[in-house]
Amino acid sequence: MNDRTVAAVATPNAPGGIGIVRISGKDAVEIASRVFRPVSGKPLTESKGYTAHFGSVYDKEEKIDEAVCIIYRAPKSYTGEDVAEINCHGGLYITKRVLRAVLDSGAEPAQAGEFTKRAFLNGKMDLAASESVMALIGASGKQAAGAALNTLEGNLRKKINECASQIVAVCASLAAWVDYPDEDIEEITPEEMLPVFEKVRTELEDVIRRYDCGRAVTDGVDTVIVGKPNVGKSTLMNMLTGFERSIVTDIAGTTRDVVEECVMLGEIILRIADTAGIRETENVVENMGVNLAKRRLERAELVLAVFDSSVPLNSDDLEIIEQCKEKKSVAVFNKSDLPTQADREIIEKAFPVSVELSASTGEGRQQLEDAVAGILMTNEFDPAAACLTSERQRQCCLKAVEHLSEAASGIRNGVTLDAVNVCADCAIDALLELTGERANAAVVDEVFSRFCVGK
Ligand code: GDP
Repeated sequence: MNDRTVAAVATPNAPGGIGIVRISGKDAVEIASRVFRPVSGKPLTESKGYTAHFGSVYDKEEKIDEAVCIIYRAPKSYTGEDVAEINCHGGLYITKRVLRAVLDSGAEPAQAGEFTKRAFLNGKMDLAASESVMALIGASGKQAAGAALNTLEGNLRKKINECASQIVAVCASLAAWVDYPDEDIEEITPEEMLPVFEKVRTELEDVIRRYDCGRAVTDGVDTVIVGKPNVGKSTLMNMLTGFERSIVTDIAGTTRDVVEECVMLGEIILRIADTAGIRETENVVENMGVNLAKRRLERAELVLAVFDSSVPLNSDDLEIIEQCKEKKSVAVFNKSDLPTQADREIIEKAFPVSVELSASTGEGRQQLEDAVAGILMTNEFDPAAACLTSERQRQCCLKAVEHLSEAASGIRNGVTLDAVNVCADCAIDALLELTGERANAAVVDEVFSRFCVGK
């Protein structure tokens, strides 16, 4: 594959100050020199890495734009290959025209994620780090970006390699002892193996738990607002969406059986079902609305249960309390700007956390933010620690945990050490699949198919 020199527009498909056409491969500089003429008159092909050249881009003899061409020489580039990046003016027409000139001069169009895939194949980054490139691009908050950047810098690989090497050490002693019974190799005892497996398993479980917390800051949390009519659900929804609406992102790949809004509450993305929509349909086809709301509640990872603090609670409120049992839920005592009439104690007993709030004034938003962060444990999320950034990585960790548990229970039940060794080997495989050291081509293709062209 690396015989091909590929090119793509690396900047967004929208007008901007600068548009970058990236060319990577062994002929990258040669191809760039066919379209780009430096004002210095020196041949681009003779330029060293990390140099920038001012000049003009030509399509045959027609001048298209003035631009800066940056040259990187293998292996010191993003892909590990020779790279030329033409920084032209960021008009949609101009960038496409420059790309066309580059393709006409011998480059092939890059596939989705091809630059990063080449970086992986050339050993510039591991598979987990490659995935974090997409996570970094898609990050909508400081924590999410910090976590992705850490993985990109290799924190996760370091952690996973540490875990794998502890298991490898045990397996190596075991193998030496099994394979060379006549040598004077000290036997590794089951009692010595067990704590190692248990320790690594706990460490991996920690990593998985952090991912589950972290998903709230990276992918968002399925949230519903429940409450009887007139408690202020729509007003709360408006309060939440009204703030920071401009940075609210649309997350691709979420199921949308009801209209959803994504809002940032602190560092957390809440994907909130539009309950107003549900209520409107209630009058027309009541069952449909109720069923939709119920399904949504069942699926929700977080429930905001709203109560009107200015009137006494009634049986409808008690019904809501019932529905929220066994869900991660926050009780919202709304209308705190009015005198309190409701019995707060009943609510406080029923919910792990409750907050006083005035949806119409916005008073209490910070408390809601803290309560939600507490219940989702995102305040425990440490972006500096080793972070998983994809479901694939989580599955690899889960597999490793499962095989380590099997190995541990095998030891406890006195199975042969050969069988224990097989389980431990499988755990190592799962971990190396995570970092990409032993990932097969199909897995690698799947990872990069999620990328955008130009990355
Ligand atoms: P929903 O039926 O639960 O969606 O309730 P709405 O959001 O439509 O609100 C019902 C009524 O309560 C409206 O007249 C709102 O203006 C009012 N309301 C909502 N939140 C507050 C609040 O925090 N304070 C006060 N004083 N009124 C509120």
